[in-house]
Amino acid sequence: MNRKQRIMLGRIMASAVMMVILAMVPTAGLVRLALYFLVYMIIGYDILSKAAGGIVRGQVFDECFLMAVATVGAFALAIYDRSGDYTEAIAVMLFYQTGELFQSYAVGKSRRSITQLMDIRPDYANVDKDGVLVRVDPEEVQPGTVIVVQPGEKVPIDGVVVKGNSSLNTVALTGESLPRDIAEGDEIVSGAVNMTGVLEVRTTKAFGESTASKILDLVENASSRKSRSEAFISRFARIYTPAVCMSALALAVLPPVVNIIIGNAAGWASWIYRALTFLVISCPCALVISIPLSFFAGLGGASRAGVLIKGSNYLEALSKTDTVVFDKTGTLTQGVFEVNAVHHNRRAQEELIEAAALAESASSHPISRSLIAAYGRNPDRSRVKNIEEISGNGVIAEVDGHIVACGNEKLMKRIGVECIACHLPGTIIHVAIDGEYEGHIVISDVIKPAASKAIEDLHRCGVDRTVMLTGDSEAVAASVSKELGIREHYSSLLPADKVEKLEQIMQERTNGKVAFVGDGINDAPVLSRADIGIAMGALGSDAAIEAADVVLMDDDPVKIAKAVRIARKCMRIVYENIVFAIGIKLACLLLGALGIADMWLAIFADVGVMVLAVLNAIRAMSVRKL
Ligand code: ADP
Ligand code: MG
Repeated sequence: MNRKQRIMLGRIMASAVMMVILAMVPTAGLVRLALYFLVYMIIGYDILSKAAGGIVRGQVFDECFLMAVATVGAFALAIYDRSGDYTEAIAVMLFYQTGELFQSYAVGKSRRSITQLMDIRPDYANVDKDGVLVRVDPEEVQPGTVIVVQPGEKVPIDGVVVKGNSSLNTVALTGESLPRDIAEGDEIVSGAVNMTGVLEVRTTKAFGESTASKILDLVENASSRKSRSEAFISRFARIYTPAVCMSALALAVLPPVVNIIIGNAAGWASWIYRALTFLVISCPCALVISIPLSFFAGLGGASRAGVLIKGSNYLEALSKTDTVVFDKTGTLTQGVFEVNAVHHNRRAQEELIEAAALAESASSHPISRSLIAAYGRNPDRSRVKNIEEISGNGVIAEVDGHIVACGNEKLMKRIGVECIACHLPGTIIHVAIDGEYEGHIVISDVIKPAASKAIEDLHRCGVDRTVMLTGDSEAVAASVSKELGIREHYSSLLPADKVEKLEQIMQERTNGKVAFVGDGINDAPVLSRADIGIAMGALGSDAAIEAADVVLMDDDPVKIAKAVRIARKCMRIVYENIVFAIGIKLACLLLGALGIADMWLAIFADVGVMVLAVLNAIRAMSVRKL
């Protein structure tokens, strides 16, 4: 509890005790009024002053206004009919404040626990200055600086380990609790916690561009992208409160006027009392508070599980997903190709691989990285000029003055070179030098171990259309989709064809949403075109983080179904709260207007609904067992 909350608790207890004492000690007349008024002010002065402030600023219809009018009215009625029964006004205030206190405590606590779990913000970086370790602001560290990360410290900036071994805890980033062993040469990302050894790290990015900063940006901005349900609630509150106030006024004035016209006693006091009860009941706070809180809890829960969702609108869309379209390389497969065979014509095998690796030296495609790995050395970039990467085809570059083309059949056709088909299964990379066919390299990718479970999980949770799009050959596409149980596949697609295919799939859908899952390499346009773009490889590709709506922190495809289940749970809670709060409200309003409910019942219903709705909202955060 913070200071403000403690003061509030003090006021609630003091006024409650005073109420009990006043109920036991008989008082009358002005003394009684003065004593009760004192208690009323102790518990309610801030509400009254906020209501007055609202009126001055022209924002009349808020909760404080409703409470102030209702309680001041109840007080005035008690004076008017000389009943001396001031307890009701005070009790309403007391319950209202108790509810507010609970709510600020619960909301504050859940927000804090979410942010704590996401505690990946690094505070400092250690830099070696003349043999002394100095703590500096990570914002000041230039890319390329060597920083020291000691055991127990958070990695402040993304980089490559230049010295040391250790294991890293990435649970705050990925939800994966097994530590990751790292050694010299490994890339590490900010936000992970170094557990065992001292590491020297050469930073590869500025602080603002590092993973931890990016994630925090995303999460902080997530709540600004409102879902339709949230927008509905704020629109609802804007018309609801004035409407309720008008109805209350009508309830106070019309029946007495009608009574006078038809010659009965006006009965002002009882109708005004009903109108005031009506006002107390009408407070929309359960909705206004619990809906955004449900979304916040859902987004927080998801990020604890390693699924970053960029806004509650995407959470809402995700819950309605019934079609998931996958990219193959890097998404369902590991994107780490191994060279299985090299079929060469005139040149030696090594020469072919060297030419390919050099031509590919500037590309970030998984195929390029694998060819470079097969070459085994760092390609000497000064030997390569005029690199042209044709996405979905391959690369053409000038190596040692010779034009090397390296890619699939489409690329060979493009440059007018006849190529020889290969009988081996796998992805075939053809190589042509100076317009002469030189042979091909057969590489194959490994399917991610979790991929078939991921597809199965999706089918099981009602996503019944699963599709794989790939630029690779039909043979590879068919074998991968068969092995994984994916229901449809389309092969030999250029990046633009993938967009077209996705649009076609989106047109065929009925009312579910279409999600596309990719790694951000060659598929960023598809990611942004889908209803929900889900990116793998947050720990690698920046393009993916930018273009996607949902980021899976650890490239684990099983998290897709998990994300759908998290979203569904959260939306279920949101709807429960909407129906529950509006239902109880309407019932109470009706009872109040009929004169059946009094103010006591009204405030109980209001605070009760709010407490239950907030507790329900917090449930959205627990996603472990989903
Ligand atoms: P996927 O749809 O499987 O992610 P891409 O669209 O990235 O694949 O690439 C499709 C195909 O284009 C690859 O299977 C490969 O034949 C060829 N290709 C793309 N980029 C390269 C490259 N840098 N070097 C060689 N071949 C490439
Ligand atoms: Mg790809």
